[in-house]
Amino acid sequence: MRLLLLGGTSEASELARVLSAHPDIEATLSLAGRTARPAASPLPTRIGGFGGIEGLARYLRESATRAVIDATHPFAAQMSANAVAACAQAGVALAVLTRPPWRLEAGWREVGDAGEAAEALGATPRRVLLTVGRLSAGAFRAAPQHHYVLRSIDAPDDPPPNTELVLARPPFTLADERQLMTSRRIEIVVSKNAGGEATRAKLDAARELQLPVLMIRRPPASGATTFHDVDAVLRWLHGAAS
Ligand code: NAP
Repeated sequence: MRLLLLGGTSEASELARVLSAHPDIEATLSLAGRTARPAASPLPTRIGGFGGIEGLARYLRESATRAVIDATHPFAAQMSANAVAACAQAGVALAVLTRPPWRLEAGWREVGDAGEAAEALGATPRRVLLTVGRLSAGAFRAAPQHHYVLRSIDAPDDPPPNTELVLARPPFTLADERQLMTSRRIEIVVSKNAGGEATRAKLDAARELQLPVLMIRRPPASGATTFHDVDAVLRWLHGAAS
């Protein structure tokens, strides 16, 4: 059975490892090409966009793909919407592998997007740990009064002024996060509501240090059948193959 795995997340990497041990499944991993040096994968990998819904539907037909697993990041809403439309067009089965969202603690606040988060930081200068990904960092140029410690895998093109860049790839431990926050005298953490385990230690550290968190709300889900663990995806795949 030929399968396309839309990746770019630790969940997709985990599923790729499991699929590579299934000789009956011929899986290809697809990455957008956003990170300069993506983590190595045991699956054959294609990199770059498909060219919208039409391009993806064409790819699925030409490669005789039978199933797509959308394991993209919960904030990759465009790719997920394209997968729904292209799979419907090409008659291909689709499921989503994603992380359940994080729950907000007392004193934490949810905002709609990065621009709203920048505004919610307020007028008084603060020391901010920014973990929203390099593509969303530019929104904080609108709040240049703050000192930012910006952690991302690759450097952003347009960071706000007064930014210390910390380049690192998850997973991070609680000890790593505690050390980062205390050494930089962080006063508030800004994060997307990515969910999952690979980056949740920052929230555990914030809770421990009694720091407020601004959490950017997830875009609406694509509506496709959704699973939170790899075993459930494998069971679904066996059903889709039969
Ligand atoms: P997006 O806005 O939903 O997608 C924009 C376009 O990028 C898509 O229309 C598609 O181009 C291409 N694309 C996205 N994911 C792709 C994939 N896995 N394989 C091939 N093409 C892909 O996506 P995004 O938010 O920029 O995220 C891009 C990638 O980074 C995704 O793989 C995602 O899992 C990963 N990521 C995103 C975030 C985040 O916060 N957004 C965080 C961590 C990792 P075409 O229309 O040309 O097909």
